[in-house]
Amino acid sequence: MHRRTFLARTGAALGAAALGPAAAGAGQGATSTSRTSRQWTARTSGRIIVIGAGAFGGWTALHLAESGMEVVLVDAYGAGSARATSGGDSRGLRFAYGDRRMYTEMAIQAKTRWEDRQTQWETGLMLTTGRISLYPESTPALETIQDVLVEAGAEFELLTPEEIQRRWPQMTVEGVEVGLFEPGATAIRANTACRLIARKVEEAGGTLKIGQVEPPRGEGILPGVQLREGGELHGDAFVFACGSWLPALFPELLGDRISVPRRDVFFFGPPAGDPRFSFPHLPNFSEGSQSVYGFPDLDGFGFKVAPFGGLDPFDPDRDERVPAAHWLQRARRYLALRFPGIMDQPLVHSRVCQLENTDDDHFIIDRHPAWENVWIAGGGSGHAFKHGPILGEIVATRVQGQDMVPEWSPHWAL
Ligand SMILES: Cc1cc2nc3c(=O)[nH]c(=O)nc-3n(C[C@H](O)[C@H](O)[C@H](O)COP(=O)(O)OP(=O)(O)OC[C@H]3O[C@@H](n4cnc5c(N)ncnc54)[C@H](O)[C@@H]3O)c2cc1C
Repeated sequence: MHRRTFLARTGAALGAAALGPAAAGAGQGATSTSRTSRQWTARTSGRIIVIGAGAFGGWTALHLAESGMEVVLVDAYGAGSARATSGGDSRGLRFAYGDRRMYTEMAIQAKTRWEDRQTQWETGLMLTTGRISLYPESTPALETIQDVLVEAGAEFELLTPEEIQRRWPQMTVEGVEVGLFEPGATAIRANTACRLIARKVEEAGGTLKIGQVEPPRGEGILPGVQLREGGELHGDAFVFACGSWLPALFPELLGDRISVPRRDVFFFGPPAGDPRFSFPHLPNFSEGSQSVYGFPDLDGFGFKVAPFGGLDPFDPDRDERVPAAHWLQRARRYLALRFPGIMDQPLVHSRVCQLENTDDDHFIIDRHPAWENVWIAGGGSGHAFKHGPILGEIVATRVQGQDMVPEWSPHWAL
């Protein structure tokens, strides 16, 4: 919705009194000192500043803009940048979530939302790759996963090693006893999606801005935030969806709650003339006992292998993104074990990324305890991207004073 339409709908006469400090507009007149009186009340009109254009912030801004609110989406580097966790080439959508049924249910709903947006925006954002999870033995935990998938209505198959070999002879099955195949799992073109969502925020009447927001100070009602480059952004409410930057922005609140380890991701070039390692000839794969997951070659980026488990802390602003030799070795060892047909192929592309992990892998979606009009949304813990369309709506409605999912919210509380 364009600003003109927004004003027409809400009534231009809302003016300064109704909009509070926001009425001064960006960078004009107001200061960033906070008031101490607690007087902010939820509303469905007004000016919301969303800081961070990743999975959390982009979708939140879109829902707010589409519901008629005036939105400024500000990001230090722009949507889907190489530094953002959401900025990778692809992210997976799966349904298996151990015993955490809430995330299985969310993923099912999220997939429908992604599909609807894909149709609405006439852009190919998803590739139905399927996903095979490999296990060295059948355990009670695997049975729990199946129970949850059945209860939630998510399709899956249990495959013997022989059946895995029959379907994907380019994969070896040494040490594998069972495979859980989710035919509906997909890969999402993450970077493309982030930039498109930001564009849709603008088309819905929102404003995009490049700028680095300084940590806010004070308590009570936050009238505005300072930009490092100079200037201020004033708003009625603020959503800090700053991914791995959250602990540095709010060290007292989140310094101990979110850790930021690095992740090295490798892309190997399939052999010339050989489609076996590219979509749609292989599904996404995951092998917890080897601490590795990956995707077939999508869009020519290469066959993706992501070893996981490292805890080395990472500075998302300053650290260089040069892949580490020992992680590359781990990736190659895995290829030798599971995909020998590609083990000697060259590395054609790599990414060094970071996670923003909470202790229990639950997200954080809550109001800041010191400010009535400030929300924190993040703590993606390596699995938030897929849920973006739902998370954005949940955060947006929280800002508007409603809780869409009261049964889930306690898991995400500060
Ligand atoms: C290697 C890897 C693989 C993953 N695989 C999957 C997967 O398969 N499926 C899945 O669902 N999830 C996956 N994830 C997790 C998922 O990508 C993240 O949970 C999600 O992208 C986090 O989004 P976010 O919006 O919290 O953070 P980000 O995407 O990092 O966005 C935060 C934004 O805030 C901006 N910002 C920060 N501070 C400021 C400031 N002060 N002022 C202005 N802007 C600021 C940044 O520039 C950035 O753009 C993976 C993550 C990694 C690293």
